[in-house]
Amino acid sequence: MIPSILSKDTIVALATAAGHGAIAIIRLSGPEAISIVQGVFKGKNLQKQASHTLHFGTIRDGEKILDEVVISLFKGPSSYTKEDVVEVSCHGSPYITEQLLKLFLRQGARLAEPGEFTKRAFLNGQFDLAQAEAVADLIASDSALTHQVAMKQMRGGFSQEIKALRAQLIHFASMIELELDFSEEDVEFADRDALRRLITTLQRLIADLLQSFEMGNVLKNGVPTVIAGKPNAGKSTLLNALLNEEKAIVSDIPGTTRDVIEDEANIGGIRFRFIDTAGLRDTLDKVEAIGVARTKEQLRKAALVLYLFDLSTTSPAQVQEELDALELPQVPYLLLGNKKDLASPAQLAAFSDGENMVFLSAGTKEGLEELKQALLDQVHANEAMTGDRTIVTNLRHFQSLKKTDDALLEVLQGLASGLTGDWLAADIRRCLFYLGEITGEITTDDLLDNIFTKFCIGK
Ligand code: GDP
Repeated sequence: MIPSILSKDTIVALATAAGHGAIAIIRLSGPEAISIVQGVFKGKNLQKQASHTLHFGTIRDGEKILDEVVISLFKGPSSYTKEDVVEVSCHGSPYITEQLLKLFLRQGARLAEPGEFTKRAFLNGQFDLAQAEAVADLIASDSALTHQVAMKQMRGGFSQEIKALRAQLIHFASMIELELDFSEEDVEFADRDALRRLITTLQRLIADLLQSFEMGNVLKNGVPTVIAGKPNAGKSTLLNALLNEEKAIVSDIPGTTRDVIEDEANIGGIRFRFIDTAGLRDTLDKVEAIGVARTKEQLRKAALVLYLFDLSTTSPAQVQEELDALELPQVPYLLLGNKKDLASPAQLAAFSDGENMVFLSAGTKEGLEELKQALLDQVHANEAMTGDRTIVTNLRHFQSLKKTDDALLEVLQGLASGLTGDWLAADIRRCLFYLGEITGEITTDDLLDNIFTKFCIGK
């Protein structure tokens, strides 16, 4: 099938990262892609070559050889954009790529806008909008989980779910619209009970997706993990050990960690966002008091709390007292008995080795691996994160789902109050509109611009 929205322009951009590299790739897409490269390429006649073939030769500016290159040829529609695409693999020097780009521009190509290759791929039906957005997420993925979610979305997992929901609604909308054609005869083609059941099923599915967004954010931005505990318990030392660098200030004077320090570490493919807090103690020191207030604020944002105490100076009863005073939010927490190296056998024995208790020595890093395992166990215990469930990571999708949800409620209310077919049909069409926005059945130029300008040039 010949794509319907083929562009007249041929676009060009550097597809690999800027800077020096073994090779760099310049990509062209559009009706003149092959002829533009042919015009400056000395080698085989590219016009006569089959798609998906490689060709070695030189690129020349007049008589001057700019580089020896390998041309990858993709003829539309069997290409990323479904247009003719040529990829020029050259030596990875910023000077060479600049010269080649300038040459292709002089030959009639235009510099691609951010995301324009992917936008063309979308417009030409290579994939839907949610899949196109997943391409950007895939490039940005930096942990096993974000990679897994983006890959699933790019391969159409999320889109399939949305399209299935939409197909069922379309069926009802058309049935109801059919009734309108026979309005004189007072017939009901659309079974109202079945419609009501469908809407409640959709509401449940959408509620799941909406809920997954919170998880999606955690995946994208890291599991917010607050490290709390009294001054001098060793919070900063632990944070340093986890991050493997000297970011938090460590000192012997209680209360030196006055501000909130945040950093990320990738542990076992999951990104954790560690938040070190000021020492928790009642104090008259004004700065310190602000710190304590902030700790409580941070605790509210936590998905996981690590409560640290000094094994050598704290009794189990004191730990309990500290925990009670903290009013921990309803999130999983781990109790970390620190300074194991200083604790006597009797002090150690006083604490039962409970399920969420880890003994360690942040200073010597003893027990750090057990702690990392315990962190992973906490995340894996959360089925939503590891199951095969679809996770919404994109704010735009979340907003469209929310609007669909509101419109579904109106359909239900309409059904309950015996609303006439034309009004019901209008409400169902609104649901279809919002669902269609996600996968791109419904688009506007603004929407597309908004999405694709966030891509990098060359993608
Ligand atoms: P914070 O106030 O909770 O952030 O505590 P710090 O990380 O600043 O540590 C307070 C003091 O305890 C510092 O002198 C650390 O070197 C020391 N410390 C931290 N962890 C350990 C440990 O596991 N063993 C020993 N012996 N000292 C530690």
